[in-house]
Amino acid sequence: MNPFNQQLIQSPQFSKAEAENLVESFYGFRPTLKPLGSFQDQNFRAMDENGRFFILKIANSAATWDELDLQNQAMSHLAAKETSFPTPRIIPALNGQQIATVEREGQSHLVRLLTYVPGQLLADLPVLPPESMTEIGRFCGTLTKHLADFTHPFANQRIIQWDFQHALQVIQAFLPYVADPEDRQLIQHFVGQFEAAAAPLLPQLRKSIVHGDITSYNLLYSRDETGQPHITGLVDFGDTVHSYTIAELAVPIVEAILKNSRQPLADAARVVEGFHQIYPLTEPELAVLYHFLGIRMCVVVTSEAQQLSLDPGNQYVQELVAQDKAILRQLRSIHPGLAQAAFRQACGLPPNPCYTAVSAWLSQSVNSKQWSVISEVGTTVLDLSVGSDVWQNGNWETVDGVKQAITAGGIGRFNEARLPYTRPNQPDEPATIHLGIDIFAKAGTAVFAPFPGTVVYTNPYAVILQHTPAPDLTFYTRYAGVETAVSLHTPVAGGQQIATITGTGTLPPHLHFQIACDWWSEADLPGLVTASQRPIWLSNSPDPNLILGIPALQPAPHTPWQTWVERRFRTLPRSQEFYYQEPMQIVRGWRQYLYDANGRAYLDMINNVAHIGHSHPRIVEAARRQMALLNTNSRFLYDSMIVYAERLAVLMPEPLKVVFFVCTGSEANDLALRLARAYTRQHDVMVIDGEYHGNTTAVDEINTSLLDNPAAKVPRPHVHPVTQPNVFRGRYGANDPQAGLKYAQEVKETLDRLQENGRSIAAFFTEALLGASGGVDLPAHYLKTVYGYVRQAGGVCISDEVQVGFGRIGTHFWAFESQGVVPDIVTMGKPIGNGHPLSAVITTPDIAEAFRRKTTYFNTFGGNPVSCEVGMAVLDVIEQEQLQNNALHVGSYLKNSIQALMPKHALIGAVHGLGLYLGVELVRDHHTKQPATQEAARIAERMKEKGIIVYPTGDYYNILKIKPPIVFTQDNADFFVQMLDQILSEIDK
Ligand code: PMP
Repeated sequence: MNPFNQQLIQSPQFSKAEAENLVESFYGFRPTLKPLGSFQDQNFRAMDENGRFFILKIANSAATWDELDLQNQAMSHLAAKETSFPTPRIIPALNGQQIATVEREGQSHLVRLLTYVPGQLLADLPVLPPESMTEIGRFCGTLTKHLADFTHPFANQRIIQWDFQHALQVIQAFLPYVADPEDRQLIQHFVGQFEAAAAPLLPQLRKSIVHGDITSYNLLYSRDETGQPHITGLVDFGDTVHSYTIAELAVPIVEAILKNSRQPLADAARVVEGFHQIYPLTEPELAVLYHFLGIRMCVVVTSEAQQLSLDPGNQYVQELVAQDKAILRQLRSIHPGLAQAAFRQACGLPPNPCYTAVSAWLSQSVNSKQWSVISEVGTTVLDLSVGSDVWQNGNWETVDGVKQAITAGGIGRFNEARLPYTRPNQPDEPATIHLGIDIFAKAGTAVFAPFPGTVVYTNPYAVILQHTPAPDLTFYTRYAGVETAVSLHTPVAGGQQIATITGTGTLPPHLHFQIACDWWSEADLPGLVTASQRPIWLSNSPDPNLILGIPALQPAPHTPWQTWVERRFRTLPRSQEFYYQEPMQIVRGWRQYLYDANGRAYLDMINNVAHIGHSHPRIVEAARRQMALLNTNSRFLYDSMIVYAERLAVLMPEPLKVVFFVCTGSEANDLALRLARAYTRQHDVMVIDGEYHGNTTAVDEINTSLLDNPAAKVPRPHVHPVTQPNVFRGRYGANDPQAGLKYAQEVKETLDRLQENGRSIAAFFTEALLGASGGVDLPAHYLKTVYGYVRQAGGVCISDEVQVGFGRIGTHFWAFESQGVVPDIVTMGKPIGNGHPLSAVITTPDIAEAFRRKTTYFNTFGGNPVSCEVGMAVLDVIEQEQLQNNALHVGSYLKNSIQALMPKHALIGAVHGLGLYLGVELVRDHHTKQPATQEAARIAERMKEKGIIVYPTGDYYNILKIKPPIVFTQDNADFFVQMLDQILSEIDK
């Protein structure tokens, strides 16, 4: 009889009262009991008189003292190694024994009381963030390290179904219970692979006593104050046994990580990385790990089949079977060689150990042989990288565009990140890194084997040859974009024609030629891989030019972002910060997307400067044309400055008529201050708390936003901040119809107080939608009332439209219009030149005249002919493409969609803003409004991984600011909301 072919064991059936008596007599307290589930035993949660929890475990009658003692000693060993290691502790009975014995209905049961480990089951966590995977690895590594020197006489004698040492036997015994022949075949595939690749290495594997059952049902987690889950416990030592040490890593990968994983290999590698940090893995362990994962899943699936045979109606097991088979199929799709390389890389080892030998043979032999794969190779090296000039105006997005961009007879580079293989609005990384060399040539051109080999793979567009030039040296060459001229499994001679170039695919006719040390696939090898898999695949893919020997050809240059960060720190000021912990290297902008050097497309949701879309052809052309014609300063008379000023003035209400051109938003605000001061002959300025207006000395003094200046709240005698009229956070809420008037009243009181002290203000300076504060919209009547008070007190009203102007808010062209006011001075910047450094100040003739009486005004760059042409092109495009209308419709759609997430995700406290200037304010508590600062930072980082750029803003950095180019679409909004929903689910409490 097979030792694993167990029947269902009857759990003990103690009544609550019996169990209570048992606790009282053995442990000396009267407990409050709550029954807990168990497959074969009977467990209770016991609470003592002081409210402390314990676990009462009554073993089934078949359990032996030895096996329980093994568990107890393992737990005690861990506690001795690390007092706070979060596993249960054993509570001795009153008589000092760790295991008590009770009799019931003629059967004897072993009883233990354990401490209670708080936490939630990891299985209940909907999504595991990537950091948690490394943390699980470290946890298992620590456990393994602690148990490494643990011994117990019984550990070697135990025979259990879940021990990897018996895995093949278990599978063999239970395989007949698997009904579906396809499933059986899948299992046999893993068994075959295990026998061939892992079994020979088994003698080299380390052994130790392992917990052996680190699953998501035995791992416990708790969340920190930011919602981040952390492993805080491990329970159930029931499978403790002396076995392969690597089991302690293999079990959690399949049983806690691969369920719900979208990127199983990357996720598994994270666990390996964490484990290796604490308990370094050996090369044989890394070589067998993939096979251990497979074989464990086979044990699980066959055991479930056996269980179902005993209990066919068990729906719970049926569901498990479906889930576990899916994991098995997912594993099957990963090639063991690739997995091994990924695991080796996670441990800092060269991913493919064969690389050196293959490339050494190729480089030594290249001089002695005349190798060629195609008779005529062109000499033009093409640049198809993200930043290449061949890519213009989105031509990489269409097949025709791409075909037209590529010169005939060119050569495409190895290790190049290629733009045409990328698509925006995709949460997954695109496969853009080119592992071959492309030789563009006419369809029908013959392709030859460079040296002898065997045809090991063909499909309608590719051939793979295997070469074994020396007894222990094998590698592969791959030819794609071709039609095969040879049959599978046949030998080919060097110089023999093996294929002809066809014209199918994204690019014009070409041969894609690639070398592989190992054939990491059961079918075709990929010609392109993702940037994060680049190091692994490069270790398998020597430069094909080792065979081609094209003199002018170098691999595409690739400088990792870390190098750029280092260089940036060396020469640029550290005070000039940059986005993200691991910043992407941005190379290209197009419409509402940014592309990094790897070709990843990011939905740009923060660039309100690129208002009408990045690299808009109209702007590019306007700047190019005028730059070639004339650029000079405004002391000369030229038309464009006048025509442009007229066009801007027309967009303003009366009496705003006089236009000053400057270069930045800060400069505009600086000039606005000078105008106000000249006109009123006063110096003081009133601002709204939390706002930012720029970086000149004078403007910096009026900033009250902590974002760019930690000293922004330090009082300055001539600056008078008033409370932000924020109906989410402030004293008067959204449900108070008088809120605007009440906040305005505070302005009045401040003005009165100033007057009493003999002071007046030159200006009241604000945005009409509070940008730096996260798009906070002002309550009704606020600005109108405030403007009245300010003017009464002799001040002028300045509206800073640098962030929010030019149609962004949708309902109006200027944000101040939404408050029904006419300012005395309006400043504008950012979107005005769509990225070109241009800005403007528009004021009344009276104020301009007061300024003239004091000074003349000259600005070298402000209003130069190039800037004016650019500015006019921006106005044209906003109008012709009806972008204000787009901002209105897409903006309200987006705002509504985010608001619709609020019932599901308590972290969203409010959605501020108008049109396409929005702010998602994140709070830990709706009542206290405690800002969710760390959560916001984490969401921004996770969004980046999904291909979306949003960033926290506000004094507490807890508001995700949303201010994309206003060509933003409804599809973009859907993509953003879907990703936000997904990411928030990771940190929902
Ligand atoms: N005003 C506001 C409201 C701003 O947000 C900024 C920049 N963030 C500025 C003025 C300053 O503009 P610039 O950086 O072009 O000098």
